[in-house]
Amino acid sequence: MSQPTGERTRTQGALGGFLKAVDAGYVQRGNYLLIENMDRLSRADILTAQGLFLQLVGSGINLVTLTNGEAYSAERLQREPEAILLVVLELIRANKESVRKAQLIGDAKARKKKRLVEHGLEGKPYTRQTPAWITWREDEKRYELIKERADIVREMFDRMAAGDGLTRIARDLNQRGVPTWGRSGNQRTADHWRTSYIRKVLTSTAPIGTFTPHTTTHDETTRARRDEPVEAVGGMFPAAVDADTYWKVRRKLSTTAARGRNAKQPPKSIVSGIVFCATCGHAVTRVAKGDYVYLLCSRANMRATEHPYQAVRYDTVEKALRENAHRLVKEAPRGKSTSALEKEIDALQANANQVEQWVFDLADLAARDRSPAASRRLGNAERELKNVQRQLRELRAKRETITTASVKDRLKAVEHALTGKDDVAAVNEVLRDAIRRVVLDPQQGHLWVRWHHSDEVQDILCVTRHMDFTEMRETTPPMHALFPENTNTDHRKQEER
Ligand SMILES: [Zn+2]
Repeated sequence: MSQPTGERTRTQGALGGFLKAVDAGYVQRGNYLLIENMDRLSRADILTAQGLFLQLVGSGINLVTLTNGEAYSAERLQREPEAILLVVLELIRANKESVRKAQLIGDAKARKKKRLVEHGLEGKPYTRQTPAWITWREDEKRYELIKERADIVREMFDRMAAGDGLTRIARDLNQRGVPTWGRSGNQRTADHWRTSYIRKVLTSTAPIGTFTPHTTTHDETTRARRDEPVEAVGGMFPAAVDADTYWKVRRKLSTTAARGRNAKQPPKSIVSGIVFCATCGHAVTRVAKGDYVYLLCSRANMRATEHPYQAVRYDTVEKALRENAHRLVKEAPRGKSTSALEKEIDALQANANQVEQWVFDLADLAARDRSPAASRRLGNAERELKNVQRQLRELRAKRETITTASVKDRLKAVEHALTGKDDVAAVNEVLRDAIRRVVLDPQQGHLWVRWHHSDEVQDILCVTRHMDFTEMRETTPPMHALFPENTNTDHRKQEER
């Protein structure tokens, strides 16, 4: 993989991404960056913001602030050095404003909390973000348990207290076909009970009626979301379980070490993270049982209804891949000629230049007229520009992925890794780099391989005891598992914004 060269920049969010794109050569000198105002540069502190400003302008970007219609470029600062004072003043103003905003938000929360403590609910819900088993009764101005769901919460606690594990509880719920809980908004409902969700319920404070508000902050450098609990409010919700059971379970959970699902652990299988189920397209997990380790669809493992339980020994799968490494690589689709793609990129770039000019003209107009119509048109143009730029980035990334040279390198690495003696983690890394999905198909006795660089699918024989020999049939690739993005969005993880 190619790393963007140039100075590494520690900046925030979208701007950081923009600077990376500049570094990587995706954004050419003379391009425009439109920001609402200097506030966007100065969330952190004035020195950082100034540095960022100089870096942008220094790399040939024209910066336009939409609220006052000022355009800054290296040329302008050459011609008109005092313009830099405008920037500094604007940065100071914007910085003060964002500090004040943060304070206002904090104040509003504190007031809300104070009011709640002093006057109770006042017929208003303190929060609409209720746990899935609690609802707000508008007519009676109070929170209420949703009975059948509260029963499930109680069952989770009772069983955990009695010694059952998370996996067993999840399996039972799935086997009984207990519907999962839809959430409000556009969050998608899980299609089966997962241990991670049950753990979340068991470790939340809501089952005993305590509401723990969280504030969401973002790490300044990594932009990772951080939810920080603030002071809890007891007696907010009706309790679904008694305090004794609740604390017993909490003690239990804290001693069994709450290791997150995504805790950093070296991969234990060479196909970790890229192996999926042919039946349903969900991820396949490792399951240790007796003397062997098996690969099994995560839904089957959680006993999702109507899913066949077909565990395949992990060593069978690893062996199939290793023994077929040479043929796999030899017959792998090669890199494509990128000339068609080049033409597409050129055309799109021309389009982007045009839209950019258009945006710039509109920004001028909007700044002079201050008419809502002009701002609206500017908004549309900006969106269009972002859209075109995104397409350009994607096409360029695609070009990088499918060029003959880089494909050749990755294929060579795959063969080398599968036939060599590197450790599991190293082999896994090489495979992930080249292969998008390995679909485990016990019934047809195949592994299906989909590469990153091509939509052509390859198959490897992987004999299992689940193979269906009753008919001599031609094998068919499980397209829904190989190309989930074409069938529906159900199997995809929610995209991170
Ligand atoms: Zn499955």
